[in-house]
Amino acid sequence: MCGFISIFGPPGSDTIHDVINGLVAIQHRGQDAAGAVSFKSKFQAKKGLGLVREVFEERHLQRLRGSLSVGHVRYPTVGLGEDTDVQPFWLDYPVGVAMAHNGNVTNFHELKRTYFDSRNIPLGSNCDLEVVLYVFADALMRRNADPVGIEDVEAGVREVYEKVKGAYSVVGITTAGLYAFRDPFGIKPCIFGKRETPDGTFYAVASESVVLDVAGYEIVRDLAAGEMLWIGEDRVPQFRQVAAKPHRPCIFEYVYFARPDTFLDGVSVYEARMEMGRRMGRRFRETGLEADVVIPVPESARTAALTMAEELGLHCREGFVKNRYVGRTFIMPNDKARQATIRAKLNPIRSEFEGRRVIIMDDSIVRGNTSRHMVKIAREMGAEKVYFASYSPPLVSPCFYGIDMSTKRDFIARDRDEAQIANELGADAVVYQTIAEMEDAVRSAGNGDLQFCKACFDGNYPTGDITESMISDIESDRVAAGNCG
Ligand code: AMP
Repeated sequence: MCGFISIFGPPGSDTIHDVINGLVAIQHRGQDAAGAVSFKSKFQAKKGLGLVREVFEERHLQRLRGSLSVGHVRYPTVGLGEDTDVQPFWLDYPVGVAMAHNGNVTNFHELKRTYFDSRNIPLGSNCDLEVVLYVFADALMRRNADPVGIEDVEAGVREVYEKVKGAYSVVGITTAGLYAFRDPFGIKPCIFGKRETPDGTFYAVASESVVLDVAGYEIVRDLAAGEMLWIGEDRVPQFRQVAAKPHRPCIFEYVYFARPDTFLDGVSVYEARMEMGRRMGRRFRETGLEADVVIPVPESARTAALTMAEELGLHCREGFVKNRYVGRTFIMPNDKARQATIRAKLNPIRSEFEGRRVIIMDDSIVRGNTSRHMVKIAREMGAEKVYFASYSPPLVSPCFYGIDMSTKRDFIARDRDEAQIANELGADAVVYQTIAEMEDAVRSAGNGDLQFCKACFDGNYPTGDITESMISDIESDRVAAGNCG
C-alpha cells in the first residue's frame, strides 16, 4: 500500500510545498521511501529512502519548481529497499510524462516477458509502476501526442486497462497537464479536490481525503472505478469513464489502512471504525463472557475499542503505551526480530491489568505475533482473564492488490477455529467480527450501496484473474515482483 498526491496550480505557481505537506499527511501509507517530481520547462525530481521529512530538505524544494507536481510515499515490502524503485517515475522522451501509483500489477511477469523482453526493452527497476508508465507512454507516442490532450490520455488509459491486470490507482503529470485514473475495480482509493485562491484554482488528486484537508483543499469527489481525469492547458477538469467494471473498494482500508479522519468513497473511516466497535460489543455479549475493561492495541484499534466498551458499559483504558519512534514491526526480516521490536514498541501499565478480566482489542490478527505478545504481557501484569478481540474477521487469503499481508501459510486463522487460535495466542478466548457485520458497519457509516473487495477475508478476488497457480507463483516471488505501490 502506498500513497500519492498530484497538484496542478495556476500559471506561475509552485506546488511542491503542498505536495510535501500532503505526503506527510499520508505518511502512514508508506514509510519506506518518498519522492516527488515537478515540471517547469523540465522535469525535476528528488527521491530517497526514508520518511518524507528525511528525504526532502528546503534546498531540494527550491529546485522542484512549477505548477505541476506529483509525489509518492512507498509502503515497505520485505527485502525491497532499492532506491531505483522509488516513485514517481518519469520519461523525458518520447513523451514527457511522470507517474506514481498505489496498487499492484498481478501480471507483471507476463507483461515483462511478452511486452518488454520480446521487444528488447529493458526495465530499469523492479517496480511494477514502470510497466504501467511504458504502456501509457507507448500509446501516447503512437498518437504523436505533443502536447498531450484528453484524447491521448484516454487512449493511454484504455491501453493500460487492457494490458495491465491487478489493482492500481495512478496519478501523474505531463508537460501540459495533470492526469489521474482510478483502478478498474476501484479497489484503491483516489480522490479529487480543489483550492480557490486569488491567483487561480489549484487542483489536487490524492489517495486519501485527509491530504486535501490539511492542504486546505475542498473535496470535489472520489473518482469512480475505471474513471480518468484530465486537466490540460485550458485548466478545465474533464472526466471520462474508460472501464466499466464493478466498484469493489478495499475493505481493509476502513479496518486498518486509512487515517480515521479520512473519507473513502463517501464513508467516514472514523464512523466505520466506531460502528465496527459497537458490533464487536454485541458479539462479545453474545458469547456470554464477562469482562471489566477494554484495552486497545494502539493506534488503529483505539476508535473501535471506545465504542465496544461503550456498548458493553465498560471503561476503555490505555493499557499499552506506544513508543512511536520504534520502526514498524510488520517488515522485520523474521519473527524473532519482529517480537523483540513489538516489546520495545508497546509497554504496559500494570494497574490497568492487575486482577481484571481484560478485553484486548486490535484491528486484525495476521500472523498472531502482536496478539500473542499482548496476551503474554497482560498475564504478566496480573490479568485474571485475557480475551482478545479483532474488529475484523479472520484473515485467510493473501492480498495481491498491494497490501503486504502474508502468504497463506503465515495466517494464524488459516485452518484454525477460534478456540484453536485462542490456544495458540494463550488467550482465554478470541472473538472476531463476522464478514457480514464488518461490511454492514462500513456501509452504515455513509454509503449503503458499497460492495467491497474482501478477498483477504473470503478468498474471492474481484479482478477474476487470480488463479491458484498465480497464487503460488506470486507467493514465491512477490518480493522480487516489485510490489512497490
Ligand atoms: P500480526 O502481529 O502478524 O498478527 O499482525 C497484526 C498487527 O499488524 C495488527 O496490530 C495490525 O494493526 C497490524 N497490521 C495488519 N495488517 C497490516 C499490514 N498489511 N501492514 C502492516 N501492519 C499490519
